[in-house]
Amino acid sequence: MKLKTISIFAALFIVAPNFFATEGMWLPNLIKALNYSDMQSKGLMISAEEIYSVNNSSMKDAVAHFNGGCTSEVVSNKGLLFTNHHCGYSQIANHSTVEKNYLRDGFWAKNFGEELANESLYVDFIVRIEDVTSKMLGGSKAEGESEDDFVKRKTAEITKELINGTDYMAKIKPFNYGNKYFAFVIERFTDIRLVGAPPSAIGKFGFDTDNWVWPRHTGDFSIFRIYANKDNKPADYSSENIPYTPKHYFPISLKGVKEGDFSMVYGFPGRTQQFLTSYAVDQKMNKTNPARIDMREKSLAVINSTMKQSEELRIRYASYQSGVSNAWKKWKGENFGLEKENALAKKIEKERIYTERINENEELKKQFGLLLPSLKTLYKENESYQKAFDYYIEMIYSGPKSLRHINNFVSVIENAEKYRLAGSLDAEMEKLKKNYQAFIDYPEQLEFEKRMWKSLYSTSMNHVGKEFHPDNLLAQSNYLTNMDKIIDDMFEKSMFLSEKKLLNYLNNPTEKNLKKIKKDKGYTMVKSFYDALRGKVIPAYYSNEDKITELMKEYSKSIQIVFPTEKYWYDANSTLRVSYGQIEGSAPRDGMRYTHKTTAEGIMAKYIPNNDEFDVPEKLISLINNKDYGRYSEGDSTLVICFTGSNHTTGGNSGSPVINANGELIGINFDRSWESTMSDVMFSEKLCRNITVDIRYVLFVIDKYAGASHLIEEMKLVETPKFTIKKDKIVGGIELPIQNSGVLKSLEKQMSK
Ligand code: ASP
Repeated sequence: MKLKTISIFAALFIVAPNFFATEGMWLPNLIKALNYSDMQSKGLMISAEEIYSVNNSSMKDAVAHFNGGCTSEVVSNKGLLFTNHHCGYSQIANHSTVEKNYLRDGFWAKNFGEELANESLYVDFIVRIEDVTSKMLGGSKAEGESEDDFVKRKTAEITKELINGTDYMAKIKPFNYGNKYFAFVIERFTDIRLVGAPPSAIGKFGFDTDNWVWPRHTGDFSIFRIYANKDNKPADYSSENIPYTPKHYFPISLKGVKEGDFSMVYGFPGRTQQFLTSYAVDQKMNKTNPARIDMREKSLAVINSTMKQSEELRIRYASYQSGVSNAWKKWKGENFGLEKENALAKKIEKERIYTERINENEELKKQFGLLLPSLKTLYKENESYQKAFDYYIEMIYSGPKSLRHINNFVSVIENAEKYRLAGSLDAEMEKLKKNYQAFIDYPEQLEFEKRMWKSLYSTSMNHVGKEFHPDNLLAQSNYLTNMDKIIDDMFEKSMFLSEKKLLNYLNNPTEKNLKKIKKDKGYTMVKSFYDALRGKVIPAYYSNEDKITELMKEYSKSIQIVFPTEKYWYDANSTLRVSYGQIEGSAPRDGMRYTHKTTAEGIMAKYIPNNDEFDVPEKLISLINNKDYGRYSEGDSTLVICFTGSNHTTGGNSGSPVINANGELIGINFDRSWESTMSDVMFSEKLCRNITVDIRYVLFVIDKYAGASHLIEEMKLVETPKFTIKKDKIVGGIELPIQNSGVLKSLEKQMSK
């Protein structure tokens, strides 16, 4: 009754939500000074100290960098950690076999004892952030010391100071091309165990077709736990370790979200490039992205068809496929968005105004007048190197794995004498042999490798300038017309591509045998590819890149002087950031409107029985058909699956907590809509939306689908909104600004009845 009175009363004063996508990824230690009042005006109800504090526990203590790539958040006082399914994918895959197929069937530990340890997995918490710019830029170079060495020396000195007498680590990072430096003091935990994962038909529902796409129905989460020693300190895996007691963990809201609600994402965004010039955007859109998309399409054709051959091969290549396809589709979306938003034309126009303003002011002209023309020249000069670099990077680092394996041998064998003298040659050989045996253990592996080689070799050699081609190919007159034959020949003759032959040699690394190895067809081919990249491409490419960075340091500074009224933020660089905005849909194309949320009905609409991408587990179908959503439903009969918001995010924000105005967890960020991936270069308030899996769907899967209610019991669920009055706002089932104190008093009176 009381509620109803308030609702009616309140309705009179509700103001229409205004849309406020907010560009920027903000350093949490600067929020109080730069963003807090803006965030408050947009609905935030907690204090800046609750977001970031060095002396007291705060939200930052519950946000962890997951294995250096994704983000994760602590959700219980026993170190329980949420991240995305795609972030824990390789760990889930590593524990999977044909008999115990956790990728396909999911995994749920029933108790601590069943939680699975993961080699070399770690999470980092940020202890504190410090501005170390003046320390980094102060002092002078020693005689003959290069800029690079100066920065390295300073970094080492300051890092030592920062962690002195502690078990912490510290990282110092340049911001905006070295105009600023911040230090991050880090506590790293290395005993991280897998606790739960839904089947891929939930955690990766929609697979490649739905990746980077809205509307989305993916339960993209997995659960880990941080273990510590008896003193609650980081320790390597030990059965003696115990669940970590965090300084802070997120309460979880069951209240749900509505359009216009304040939202914020706290995590480790990887890389943005807001200051890129038109020359760089042109390069990216018209050269780099198409080249890399092309190479990945070739890889995917081989990988996808191989994975279809058997369950064993599906598991074996799942993680690899996921990585290759994720970036492939992202680059396609990025180009789509940049074209749609006329990014290039916008950059050119901005540069025109920039040049005009600079030319009007003698001082600015003197200081910055040559920047743009010099950048233009450098991009032009770098073009052929960039092209070779793009194709080689794809070939060598995302292409056939045998290439990288053989290269490991190359590094040891080329330095065999050094290792022999140090007495470690046999041990090095043993290591290589072990890795290689595990790699080559699959009968289908060599066939797969051969197809990858053929496909990527021909694509890259047809595009990379001849002056950059590997020497051993240039020595064969027919290497461009006879590509398949060259690869067939290599696979037939190379000892590296036949386990038996290789072992014969490696078990006996005499000088004579090492000489023979050096003449091996696989060995010479791989060495020649690496030599071409390292010797013919990289020196000039990196030297140009260094010059570009130097100029960009000045350019990004000058932009802020020439356009002083714009709001500036530091480009993402895998450091801790906060983005904020609100829950909202979008209108990405003419005649099309995306609503802000999806529901379980959408899962059933996409369901295709036995389909690789859109099959739905039987139990989930039955729960949905019976609308058996328990306490996780919205109203009586709706299960919300995902929602979108206008928070500026990028890769690395995968797994980030999405938080409401009260500091409670409302979802896990996992993606952006296709039109949004351009936000790494240019943020569009109209287009850019991050995609979040609703926390109620996550809890529903854990509880109702998997029956892992013991995990729910660890968490702190916030079910019934409490009414509180903060400043000039009533917070609770309704949230609204109160326009005058008379209204406030009257509401206060009613609520106290
Ligand atoms: N899905 C992304 C990732 O893989 C997250 C994003 O870029 O928005 O990192």
